[in-house]
Amino acid sequence: MPKHVPGCRAHLPAPGARWPITTNATVQTLYGSWTLLRDNKTTPGTRMDAQGRWTAIPNASMLPAGPTSMGGTCGELDEDEGLTEHCAGCYAANLERAYPSLSAAAARNLRTLTTAHLAAGVDGAADVITAGVELSAGAQYRAGVASPIFRHHADGEILADWHADAIRMAAERTSDVSHWLYSRKPSLARRLVGIPNLAVLLSADRANIELMLGATRELGLPIAYLSDATPEDDANIERIVDVTGRRAISCPATGAWKHDGRGPAHVVGVTGRRADMGPDARVGAGACAACTKCVSPAGPSIVFDRHGGAPKRTAHEVFVSLRSRA
Ligand code: SF4
Repeated sequence: MPKHVPGCRAHLPAPGARWPITTNATVQTLYGSWTLLRDNKTTPGTRMDAQGRWTAIPNASMLPAGPTSMGGTCGELDEDEGLTEHCAGCYAANLERAYPSLSAAAARNLRTLTTAHLAAGVDGAADVITAGVELSAGAQYRAGVASPIFRHHADGEILADWHADAIRMAAERTSDVSHWLYSRKPSLARRLVGIPNLAVLLSADRANIELMLGATRELGLPIAYLSDATPEDDANIERIVDVTGRRAISCPATGAWKHDGRGPAHVVGVTGRRADMGPDARVGAGACAACTKCVSPAGPSIVFDRHGGAPKRTAHEVFVSLRSRA
């Protein structure tokens, strides 16, 4: 079983690892292609190319963000679970809007996953997800990572009960990998509770806090809370600590590292130390591989600080603008 020791080097490339560490991010399955996200925040290793772009070892899956009725996977705004108005600031949706190729890959992934499910049920969907995890784990091992990590749907959500069951199967089949995910759908997240190498965090904000507190009372899961630092947010964080019985820590990538003048807050030195990240760095590790607070099923609740206040546009406007350009 993977190690979950915050601050240890198990999820980071070995000193002197072979660079470049980049690899193909797409795996061909029986049901179509499945492309992983090169997320600089979650990756164990990333490097800057000649054009100044950070290119990460891919270690996250992605599906389209937004309302299901618009081709996304996040549910509908007026449903109990899934989207809330706070999703107007969705980082993944903004990336999809900025990069049409990313949006197209997420849509292709959804087609592959649903094709697999139609053809071969949960097993088929699990085959697709497992193929992506294994592609990523192989790249991480080649970079000298002792204990690979993998984030599910860094873009998008758990689509349905069969998708949750397929993620469960994929985690069970790859027990050497530490998996984690966030979800706004407790009725589906509950199908993923109790897997030793899969951390599940319920994703909350001011709009859905009552639902998530009720769910965590029952499921015992930590909460990842999106805060605008309002008095209401502060009160909600106190309630989360009370109900979950876990500490609530501020994500360093949205907190302390945003203001330390060492460059992008989601990348740290390849040593795993933020202090080793400098403006001239050309290699690094993702914040999550160094921090690992979300990666452990026994970890704390997390507060994501959203600086600059709530988004000016409504969630509906954001997703119409994203999907209308597809
Ligand atoms: S708290 Fe740590 S593991 Fe969680 S999102 Fe932030 S950097 Fe990543």
